[in-house]
Amino acid sequence: MQQKKRILLLATGGTIASRKSDNGLKPQITPEELIEYIPQVKEICDVEAVQLLNLDSTNMEPSHWKLMVHAIWEHYDDFDGFVIAHGTDTMAYTAAALSYMVQNTKKPIVITGAQKPIDLEITDAKSNLIDSFLYAADDRSQGVQIVFDGKVIAGTRAKKVRSKSYNAFSSIDYPSLAVIQDMNIMRYIPMLPYEEEVRFYEKLDENVFLMKLIPGIRPKVLKSIFENYDCIIFDFPSLTIVPDAQTLFPVVDGIILLSALGETRKSQIKEAKFRVKPYHDKYYGMIVNKIPLDMYRSNAKDYDYYFINQDGEQKLNGSPAHKKYMEETERRTK
Ligand code: GLU
Repeated sequence: MQQKKRILLLATGGTIASRKSDNGLKPQITPEELIEYIPQVKEICDVEAVQLLNLDSTNMEPSHWKLMVHAIWEHYDDFDGFVIAHGTDTMAYTAAALSYMVQNTKKPIVITGAQKPIDLEITDAKSNLIDSFLYAADDRSQGVQIVFDGKVIAGTRAKKVRSKSYNAFSSIDYPSLAVIQDMNIMRYIPMLPYEEEVRFYEKLDENVFLMKLIPGIRPKVLKSIFENYDCIIFDFPSLTIVPDAQTLFPVVDGIILLSALGETRKSQIKEAKFRVKPYHDKYYGMIVNKIPLDMYRSNAKDYDYYFINQDGEQKLNGSPAHKKYMEETERRTK
């Protein structure tokens, strides 16, 4: 008989572990108690639990991600997989951060939480936890994913889209990797086994600000952001609508990365490059979510961009702008 998998539960707080208090819900339930609420987990795997943090996830900071990475790294050889119990508000950020900070992990890292505390009679907490342990103990699982409401979502693709309903998370511009129903995992996207060794990163550049494009954006705002941050990532829905560079870019003094949701066409990248051209000394490249299909057929080296795929893998094209960006990042995080 196959030996039961050993899974480490890292509890960080959130609604899943909360009880009502005079000041509203507060994380109070210990990780050991969490496990007691799901006695059937014993049939799936052996669980050990650690209380890593006890936060409402709105208070999560990059230093907490480092703590999670450190805990996984420290226990990596002793366990077959990891489940992180987390508040839902910033869960997608943690999932994305861990996807980059722990790469090529053959041992799955599953992040989950709940819309309702585990001690309520009607709650999604128990099923989300059970599904997470089931998924973390499955031989075919690897990488960093969110398991929530029966869906398995790549760590780099999740977004919280509902504040009350159980189906709080969606996978953005990429299908859910699997669904879990009645203790069965149905996989939509087969995962190619990682060939490289697991890599842990604990350095993070925290001087990066994410800014949404809003109508009527005032360029002066950028100036004050640059008093506190070295880099702004503009979150544009499409690279074709990079706002008039003459309005926005002259006031900035730092690194600019442009990001785009969804599929980005080669023509859009060209157009965006054209618009930022006069400010090239301040511009360090683009992040696009999906490599444009036509780029597979062309020489990607011609383009000043890099992309991040669903596994969190970064492909740099080695342009001088990117080299400069990498060198500066290295210098700042030393
Ligand atoms: N603010 C809470 C948190 O993210 C939201 C509720 C939850 O955990 O789902 O911790």
